[in-house]
Amino acid sequence: MAPKKNDPTKLKKQELDEFREVLLKGRKELLAQARSVIHRENDELIGQPGDEVDQSTAEYEQAFEYRLRDREKYLLKKINKALKRIDEGTYNECEQCSAPIGVPRLRARAVATLCIECKEEQENDEKKYQKRRAYKLDFEL
Ligand SMILES: [Zn+2]
Repeated sequence: MAPKKNDPTKLKKQELDEFREVLLKGRKELLAQARSVIHRENDELIGQPGDEVDQSTAEYEQAFEYRLRDREKYLLKKINKALKRIDEGTYNECEQCSAPIGVPRLRARAVATLCIECKEEQENDEKKYQKRRAYKLDFEL
C-alpha cells in the first residue's frame, strides 16, 4: 500500500506544475478579492459624502463580508496546504487512506486532500452533524 519509487500513482512533474500554477493563480485572486473588500471597508469608515445607503442593506453587506472573509481565510489555508503537499510530494495522496487522488478529481478541485471515497464518507458525517455548514462552500479552482 505504501507508495514506491517510480510509482505510476505518482504525478508527473508536468502535472504538478499545472496544479501549482492553478493554486498560485487561485491564491492571487483570493488575496486580490480580500484586499478589495478591506479597501471598501476603509472607505466606509472614513465616510463618503452623499452616500445614502439604507442601513439594513449596509448591515446585510457587512455581515456578508465578514462571512466572506472567514471563507477566504479557510480557502487560503487550503491552497497553502495544497502547495505544501506539492512540495512534499504528497499532493495526490489521500490524507485519510493514502490512496492516490485521481487527476480528474484534482483538476476539478485542486485543493482536494481526500480521495473520492473518503470525501463521500466525510460528507455523510457532515450531513449527520450539520455543524460546519459555512465550510461546505467548496472552492472550485
Ligand atoms: Zn481516501
